[in-house]
Amino acid sequence: MCWETKEQPMRTYQQFINGKLVSRPGQSMIEVENPSTGKIMAQTPNGGREDAQEALEAAHKAQEAWAAQSAAARGAYLKQMATLVRKHRTDLARLLAEEQAKTLPLAYAEIDGTAEYFDYYAGWARLYEGEIIQSDRQRENILLYRQPIGVVAGICPWNFPFFVMARKVAPSLLTGCTAVIKPSSVAPVTVMEFARMVADLDLPAGVLNFITGGGSTLGEALSSSPLVDMVTLTGSVEAGQRIITASAANVTKVSLELGGKAPVIVCADADLDLAVRGVTASRTIFSGQVCNCAERLYVQDSIAEQFADKLAEAFAKVRLGNPFDEPAPDMCSQINAEQLEKIDSMVKRAKADGAEAITGGAPLNRETGYFYAPTLLGNCRQDMEIVRKEVFGPVLPMLTFHTLDEAIALANDCEYGLTSSIFTTKLTNTMEAVNRLKFGETYVNREHFEAMQGFHAGWRKSGIGGADGKHGLMEYLQTHVAYIDY
Ligand code: NAD
Repeated sequence: MCWETKEQPMRTYQQFINGKLVSRPGQSMIEVENPSTGKIMAQTPNGGREDAQEALEAAHKAQEAWAAQSAAARGAYLKQMATLVRKHRTDLARLLAEEQAKTLPLAYAEIDGTAEYFDYYAGWARLYEGEIIQSDRQRENILLYRQPIGVVAGICPWNFPFFVMARKVAPSLLTGCTAVIKPSSVAPVTVMEFARMVADLDLPAGVLNFITGGGSTLGEALSSSPLVDMVTLTGSVEAGQRIITASAANVTKVSLELGGKAPVIVCADADLDLAVRGVTASRTIFSGQVCNCAERLYVQDSIAEQFADKLAEAFAKVRLGNPFDEPAPDMCSQINAEQLEKIDSMVKRAKADGAEAITGGAPLNRETGYFYAPTLLGNCRQDMEIVRKEVFGPVLPMLTFHTLDEAIALANDCEYGLTSSIFTTKLTNTMEAVNRLKFGETYVNREHFEAMQGFHAGWRKSGIGGADGKHGLMEYLQTHVAYIDY
């Protein structure tokens, strides 16, 4: 995989099932659009029930022998994956930038972060443990083992396709689970490139499979199969709800990382320049298409006007362009026409409901691409759709508050519960927020972005279970308690 020019050849992918790259004769293909150019850059199989069945049978067959290997041996494969990702770093980052209109620096960060993620979980091989529990009886040992849950179906979104793939592959394989991964049809390219690389590893057949197809077809086939022991989805609330329904028949465990509507609270005592930088970064990174980033803003009334001016100025300075432009832009196109239309229609409805654009507020007319201007909306109310529903674009509705109690109540008044943040220089404000915000994460005086050793888990409709760190690893393990009398 290597190229010099910006214009790339059309790429065609195969499924990776039971250790082999395979094609099904006559199978229809999904076309993948480069959002910056509007051209079709790749095609990948439109897989269905047969592909799910074959991949799951392979994963099922391979699981016991895989779990019988030592965790260190399994971790060694993750290290090989990290090495592969680093070896192909440049090509993968460019491909990621191409398939998603992601800025090159962010694409590199995703590829590098993915390699680190494989290494990070490889390091857990000698760290996770069971427990010895005190018995009520003499001459008895109670041992709690942590054993792999079995076959994992990993269903991924388009926004961080490569990293989220690793977020599911690394803990699966390390714990002795086998996995079938389904990337999003919107952005399957880097993941399927990785599948080709995995095909060259000496990984036992069936341990890791990659199949492509639609959510309501292939995704449902995976989540309703009795061969699956856990479905892990990163995606929308709607897909999560469908997966809960589909997995109910077999009482299959689900781990769901879903949407967010992250509040940012800016207190009058905050370092306002820091807050402007943090909020701008949080709302414009990857064109606002990030689950954990700032989706609504609450500013203390005494500084509201001053802060809105500063933030609007920063938003207006955001440089838009294509990933391969030089110098690199701050923000690129939205992923596709559908997302642009969704953002635009939400802003139009907000305006009709009384909101006013302080800056931005409309799509940008460019020859190609789906650009939306970084937008700050004033005159918003808590009951507006734009304040309550995930936009997933560079649009930030702003509201004001008088007391911190009020701000915390407004922030918590939300069906999502993924992340939240506060900018303040007062310890009491920090502690009140950390103790009372009902979200999986709270960031203080910084942009929203989690660390791989933390635990990324949403409250309420933002999910069930979570990923990363020790607690993320535990999702892939089930307990087995042995009572041994002697
Ligand atoms: P999506 O729900 O449309 O798709 C996600 C995946 O689910 C895709 O692979 C899709 O094919 C599959 N899918 C869709 N319907 C399905 C069904 N009925 N059964 C099984 N699988 C199905 O989401 P998206 O548009 O790819 O991603 C954006 C969403 O993901 C946003 O809501 C965002 O907040 C969320 N997200 C959350 C996190 C997190 O960590 N919480 C991270 C990234 C994205």
